[in-house]
Amino acid sequence: MALTEFSVIKQYFSKRRSSNPETKLGIGDDCALLNIPDDHELVVTTDTMVEAVHFFSNGDAESLGYKLLAVNLSDLASMGARPIAVTLALTMPKINPEWLTDFASGFFQLAERYSVDLIGGDTTSGPLTLTVQALGLVPRGMALCRSTAKPGHLIYLTGNLGSAGLGLKALQGYQKTQVTEALLKLHRPEPRIEIGLVIQNYASACIDVSDGLLADLGHILESSQVGACLDWKKIPLSKEVRAYIEQTGDWNMPLTAGDDYELCFSVEPEQQQALESTLYGLGFDFSHIGNIEVEPGLRLNKAGIVTHLNSKGFEHFSE
Ligand code: ADP
Ligand code: MG
Repeated sequence: MALTEFSVIKQYFSKRRSSNPETKLGIGDDCALLNIPDDHELVVTTDTMVEAVHFFSNGDAESLGYKLLAVNLSDLASMGARPIAVTLALTMPKINPEWLTDFASGFFQLAERYSVDLIGGDTTSGPLTLTVQALGLVPRGMALCRSTAKPGHLIYLTGNLGSAGLGLKALQGYQKTQVTEALLKLHRPEPRIEIGLVIQNYASACIDVSDGLLADLGHILESSQVGACLDWKKIPLSKEVRAYIEQTGDWNMPLTAGDDYELCFSVEPEQQQALESTLYGLGFDFSHIGNIEVEPGLRLNKAGIVTHLNSKGFEHFSE
């Protein structure tokens, strides 16, 4: 028998048990119900992925399910929130059981890892478009915003930069180096939930790097009405990305390529020691990459020479 909208929901999405005390009512009614503890705030975000815009049409559905959830959880991580629940709006040209099995497998792999409940959604026909809305909790007043970085604060980054960008270059035909790690990072980014929960106590501002470090740090600078200078030698790069830069001279790539989903955050100098010893103790990978300054704009110190950058990298027409 052909699958209908309702059997798709039943077969692929509604079988899992809820894992959070906040979930009072999940899939199956007109709306879901959540209990929000009095001392917390609800943190809400949405991201959509459209075929041929955000992912290749021939891409693997399992990675797509994983990544769709990962990019939303990354936004919660950047606010210091603990994810509790998500909704999923699926628009598909036709019902393809094999595709749905793989998509749901990738999606629930990540959902179960972070105890996120799928509490509802919508299923419609049309061009392949995938939307998740993610809901999280943060202790009242503790959310990490973009607008609260101050001159003198230190800028930190989790993980390394440019791996997903290199993975994309590999898919587009650049294959001069080994890019295994880069492809994994492109297809299976790790939302930095745990580190987000820890830095909530130390950071003054935070953003997740989805559109490239320069663009995203630029959002913090603009919202906070400050500038920054980055130190090129402190920018964390994987071996694969270093090899790529050596071969091409393209050092802009790790600063401007998107999809890394690392966290970039600022910290008061008084908090530096406490932050670093806590993060070391927990085994997190992080780097101090520069400092917030009074002078607006973004600068890069590369071997003692300071250049002005814009969101696309080196700024040719800086005043
Ligand atoms: P309504 O017509 O009242 O909007 P639907 O028939 O669209 O309800 O959906 C029935 C139930 O299934 C609702 O609880 C809805 O949230 C859930 N649902 C629909 N599509 C999905 C999906 N893709 N993933 C998870 N839950 C879904
Ligand atoms: Mg509906």
